[in-house]
Amino acid sequence: MAITDFPRYELTFGPSPVHPLDRLTAHLGGAQIWAKREDVNSGLAFGGNKTRKLEYIVPDILASGADTLVSIGGYQSNHTRQVAAVAARLGLKARLVQERWVDWDDPVNDRVGNILLSRLMGADVRLDDAGFDIGIRSSWEEAIAEVEAEGGTPYPIPAGASEHPLGGLGFANWAYEVAAQERELDVFFDTIVVCTVTGSTHAGMIAGFAALEEAGGRPRRVIGIDASATLEKTRAQVERIARHTAELIGLGRELRAEEITVLPGWAGEEYGIPVESTVDAIRTTAQLEGVILDPVYEGKSMAGLMDLVRESEIPADSTVLYAHLGGQPALNAYSQVF
Ligand SMILES: *Cc1c(COP(=O)(O)O)cnc(C)c1O
Repeated sequence: MAITDFPRYELTFGPSPVHPLDRLTAHLGGAQIWAKREDVNSGLAFGGNKTRKLEYIVPDILASGADTLVSIGGYQSNHTRQVAAVAARLGLKARLVQERWVDWDDPVNDRVGNILLSRLMGADVRLDDAGFDIGIRSSWEEAIAEVEAEGGTPYPIPAGASEHPLGGLGFANWAYEVAAQERELDVFFDTIVVCTVTGSTHAGMIAGFAALEEAGGRPRRVIGIDASATLEKTRAQVERIARHTAELIGLGRELRAEEITVLPGWAGEEYGIPVESTVDAIRTTAQLEGVILDPVYEGKSMAGLMDLVRESEIPADSTVLYAHLGGQPALNAYSQVF
């Protein structure tokens, strides 16, 4: 099978915009930096990267006859907010387990931003005290069983939609979308920088770009910046999902170890807690470009990009594509940082 053989239920407004970040490029004095904007990719509750993953999962949801989407994330999960939006669009219910993934004492952390939007869209939001873990959670399995016990038909969607068998397809397709935009814009991105936590965004890109290269495309680097602060778990999950997705889309060879790069250094000590480099990247990008990043994910991947460009780890003759994956609603729970 190829990526085009998988059914896709369109939720995005076509290809997400790609544009140069000229003032940030001049400020860093190295590689040319562009952004591809998943934060403005759809009309669903401020969009973001989970919308693309869900496009490849919705056909399976509809075929299953389910009436309730059951998913999980932190209090300020962007993923559960996008699941709530998809449920609203499809006329289904959403049951969301929101765990205390981040030890963050902002008094409105469980009331504003993403969780507010999920409640507004009619999701049944259940708070849980458990801490951060990207794996399969018992609280989520219990929520699935509860929906069944109440006579509903659940459709389980794991954290970040990553452990779902189709979870990597959305960003495998993103790679093909990038290649088409490169032809239109007459540009080639030799380096992609992406934030990685539950892994299927980065993993899908790895599979998609490997398939493009196999079909005669120029090689490029896909650099994942860890924001989980549980590096080994995230790296293992990226690798597993990348290999699975590569097989699904018929890559026809094993991925090489050097194709799977997850860099530590910008996550800080804990998932969800911004550090100095995060805050600096958020302020710099806001003040030079009017582009807004969040303190959990994109501020950390941008901090990584900025250091890699400054230190010429990404050489000055490179053209870099920064994948902006969304996430801004969480900013509302972090006002004390700014
Ligand atoms: C979920 C998310 C990520 C991480 O994507 P994964 O597929 O979980 O690795 C990055 N940025 C934002 C804004 C997100 O919501």
